[in-house]
Amino acid sequence: MRVHVVGNVCVDTTFRLDRFPAAGETLNASDHADGLGGKGANQAVAAVRTGADVRFHAAIGNDAAGAWITDQLSRDLDASHLTMLPLPSDRSTILVDARGENLIVTGASCAAAFDPLAASGFIRSVERGDIVVVQGNLDPDVTTACLKLARSAGAMTVFNPSPLAAGHTPSLSDVSLAIANAGEAEQLTGISDPDAAARELIRQGADTAIVTLGAVGCLVADGKGRVDRLVAPRVAVVDTSGAGDVFCGCLAGCLAAGMDLAAAARIAVRAAAISVGCAGTLGSCPDRREMKLLMETTEAQTA
Ligand code: AMP
Repeated sequence: MRVHVVGNVCVDTTFRLDRFPAAGETLNASDHADGLGGKGANQAVAAVRTGADVRFHAAIGNDAAGAWITDQLSRDLDASHLTMLPLPSDRSTILVDARGENLIVTGASCAAAFDPLAASGFIRSVERGDIVVVQGNLDPDVTTACLKLARSAGAMTVFNPSPLAAGHTPSLSDVSLAIANAGEAEQLTGISDPDAAARELIRQGADTAIVTLGAVGCLVADGKGRVDRLVAPRVAVVDTSGAGDVFCGCLAGCLAAGMDLAAAARIAVRAAAISVGCAGTLGSCPDRREMKLLMETTEAQTA
């Protein structure tokens, strides 16, 4: 079983400052650095680290940033399924102040224009039993079409509706597994109780649903009326950015390894908690060796 992650990739440039600038003001940052970002890329790399065979479908621009993204991604996965568009590569500028608050501006022309069904041979490469993971970064109609075609090709479809555009409620009718955080689940269902929201995601069409609950862990609704709570290990929080992506990518990789949903979610909760204890988004995702150990020990404890 192969994991196909369909989504976005961008360059995240992070500037650290004592405080945010006011309108018209120029400030010197204490440091700045480029990093690989985008929910699609984060999830694809997390899936690779479980040992899964991953194809990542995303768009880059025909520019130096696109070449840099390809080079960075190639350290973890086969970057040959990227589509090059005549646009600037996607970028986020992230300002972080002394309190750790952030301000983010994103330019996402490639993600907005990317149509994996037209460009990258994605759907021809999906085989029965594969896992197709899509997030909320692409055009909503493209996302819906991807999920539909992937499902009709016999794939298990995993939809993480993040980021969730205001006023747009995607259809869950071709979704095998919906993974939403508590805020997204409430936005999608209008229900603040996560247990009831998980059941509602299933009523809306998903076969199964997971609602992640930050430090608390997650809820797994199996589609037969059962909702299980999985507790996250306690960690000293350093940086929660990307925790949801580590969760989704790791879960998809574990499903591809043949685990059932509950077993995969137990490992994903732990992998995401580990990532919260370290700085960075991709930098905090457990590496292959840590992930292998986590998969072995979690399975042994629950056997
Ligand atoms: P969230 O997107 O905030 O719901 O978090 C996704 C997953 O990351 C959770 O299900 C946990 O596994 C992990 N996580 C997030 N925040 C924490 C935290 N403070 N402590 C431990 N794990 C966390």
